[in-house]
Amino acid sequence: MEMSSFIPVNKPLLDGKEKQYLIECIESGWISSEGPFVEEFERRFAARVGRKHGVAVCNGTAAIDAAVEAIGIGPGDEVIVPTFTIISCIGQILRNGAWPIFIDSNPQTWNMDVGQIEKKITPRTKAILLVHVYGLPADVGPILEIAQKHGLKVIEDAAEMHGQTYCGKPCGSFGDLSIFSFYPNKHITTGEGGMVVTDDDELASTCRSLRNLCFQQQRRFVHDRLGWNLRMTNMQAALGLAQLERLDEFVQRKRAMGARYNELLHGLPGVQLPLQQTDYAQNIYWVYGIVLDASLGFDAHEAMHRLEEKRIGTRPFFYPLHLQPLLQEKYSSHKGAYPVAERMGEQGLYLPSGMALTMEQIDTVAKTVRDVLAQ
Ligand SMILES: *Cc1c(COP(=O)(O)O)cnc(C)c1O
Repeated sequence: MEMSSFIPVNKPLLDGKEKQYLIECIESGWISSEGPFVEEFERRFAARVGRKHGVAVCNGTAAIDAAVEAIGIGPGDEVIVPTFTIISCIGQILRNGAWPIFIDSNPQTWNMDVGQIEKKITPRTKAILLVHVYGLPADVGPILEIAQKHGLKVIEDAAEMHGQTYCGKPCGSFGDLSIFSFYPNKHITTGEGGMVVTDDDELASTCRSLRNLCFQQQRRFVHDRLGWNLRMTNMQAALGLAQLERLDEFVQRKRAMGARYNELLHGLPGVQLPLQQTDYAQNIYWVYGIVLDASLGFDAHEAMHRLEEKRIGTRPFFYPLHLQPLLQEKYSSHKGAYPVAERMGEQGLYLPSGMALTMEQIDTVAKTVRDVLAQ
C-alpha cells in the first residue's frame, strides 16, 4: 500500500482548532488584517519567545525586508550574513544599496562559522544577520559579544526555529529585531506569514508603520516615508493561533522524527547526518538534512532524482548566496571562496520532514535511502 503512494517532502498538520477559528473569521466577517486574531496572535507569539512586541506580516521574507529597512541599512553599509541561507536574507540589503559580507558555515552544525566573523568587520559594517539553519541554533553567545564590541545591530532570522532555545533562552529573543516565517514547512504555519519581534518600542512602531504603507495617524494619506502593504490577514492569524497552541507538541514530534531517522540511517557509509545536539541546544530538525560524501560517486542532485523515482520527495540544500548568478556582476566571489557552504550546496539534500509525516513513512524513506545510496 505504502509502496505506490508518494511521500511528499512536506505536509502540515492542521487538525487542532484551525477549522474552528477559520469559521469564526467567516461567520464574523473579519477576514482582513483588521480582525481580532491578528493582535491576539502577535501578543501570544511574542510572549512565547519572550519579546515585548510582535508585528505580524505576510511572509518571512517581508519580515526580513521590514527589519533591514527599520534599522536603517543604507547605501554603502555592510551586513555580515552567512552564505548558506535563503535569498530572502539579502533582498532588502541589496535593494538599499548595502553589501552582504558572507561567512562560511561550520561543517558540523551547518550554521555560520563564528570564528570567521570578526576579521570581516570594517568601519562600514552596520549589522550582523544571524541566521539559524535546519534545526540547530547558530552559536549566539559569541555573535552577540562581537556585535556589542563593535556596536553592530543584530537581526536574527529565526524563521526555522519556533520552539528552539539557545542555552535555555528562546530563539527569536536575541536580535534587536528577530523574525519568523510561518510558511507551511515551518514548525507552525499560517499558509503564508511571518512576524517581526522585538523589545524596542520605536523599532516595533517603525515596523508597524512600514507594514501598513506608512499611513499616518493624523493624516492618513500623507506619507513621510515609503512603506509596503505587508499585512497579515485575520484568517492567517486564526491558523497561527491554532498552531501556536500546539507548538510544544510539534517540537516533540519533530524531535521524535529526527531520532527515528538517526536510528535508521546511523552508520550508512558516506552520509553525514544532522548533529543531534551541541553544548547549547538539542536539534529540533526543522528539516532532516543529509550531506553525501564525494566518495559515493554522485551528488545530491542525482540522489534526489533516484529518490523521486522511488516516490520519495526531497529538496536540495540552500545554494550558497556568494555563487548566485544575480550577484556575479557585482561580486568577484568565485568557487572555492566558502568551501563548506559550497560542498553543502552540492552534496546536501533533505528528506520528508513535514509535521504530518508518520513513523511508518519515515521507515519507508530510510529504507529507500539505504537502498538508493548503496547502489
Ligand atoms: C523560510 C525562511 C525564510 C523566508 O520565509 P518565507 O515565509 O518563505 O518568506 C527566511 N529565512 C529562513 C532561514 C527561512 O527558512
